[in-house]
Amino acid sequence: MTIPMLFKPRMLLAVAAALALSACFGAPEAMKQYGGGKRTSASRPDRPQAVGTPSFTSAEAKQCAVDLQRAGVRFTPLPNQNHGGGCTSIDSVKLLDIGTPVTNLGAMTCPLARNFAAWVQYAVRPAARAYFGAEAVKVETFGTYSCRNIYGGRSGRLSQHASSNAVDVAGFVLADGRRIMLDGGWHGDKASQDFLRALHKSACRRFGTVLSPDYNAAHYNHFHLDMSGNGYCR
Ligand SMILES: [Zn+2]
Repeated sequence: MTIPMLFKPRMLLAVAAALALSACFGAPEAMKQYGGGKRTSASRPDRPQAVGTPSFTSAEAKQCAVDLQRAGVRFTPLPNQNHGGGCTSIDSVKLLDIGTPVTNLGAMTCPLARNFAAWVQYAVRPAARAYFGAEAVKVETFGTYSCRNIYGGRSGRLSQHASSNAVDVAGFVLADGRRIMLDGGWHGDKASQDFLRALHKSACRRFGTVLSPDYNAAHYNHFHLDMSGNGYCR
């Protein structure tokens, strides 16, 4: 697949603030799909039902939606929802096409979605070529939103997953069929170890909190990436 100019980081920086407050993201169009250019097609009927309150009301959220559009990402803004128990989806999106298929993505806060799409584009795909000489054709995740406490405990703090602000990445599928999974790969052959550690390092520059298999036993099979914290990298 060719990479359109839109994906160049410089272009993202060049997005003028003038675009930020475009009326495009107001309530009447809250369920509209955005972005994607040539990738937009009629083959994606998976729009969620319109429930809850309108989303993307803050300037920050609107800017984030503009950033996603400019990055060529296709997504659907989701209605703000309070799921009870402190669990929410606020200013969240459903990613439809970031250029590489990703499994199990549900609601993601827009900043998480924006950074995740950029990480796949600028870290995962180049690293797959560099370490394996192959395209990354799929990213496998364990999901995003989940109303639960940290480590799934009965008590304790709510996980960032409970506010749609985290994604758990399980591994990567290459064009030749190889699967480089955290479970096995983190302590696997040299290429897998180097590849996954390179992705870990780059994730730590893009997400507020990154937890790897080195963090604790609960993370033996995934990277936990979330937008809380300020560079907590384990
Ligand atoms: Zn997680």
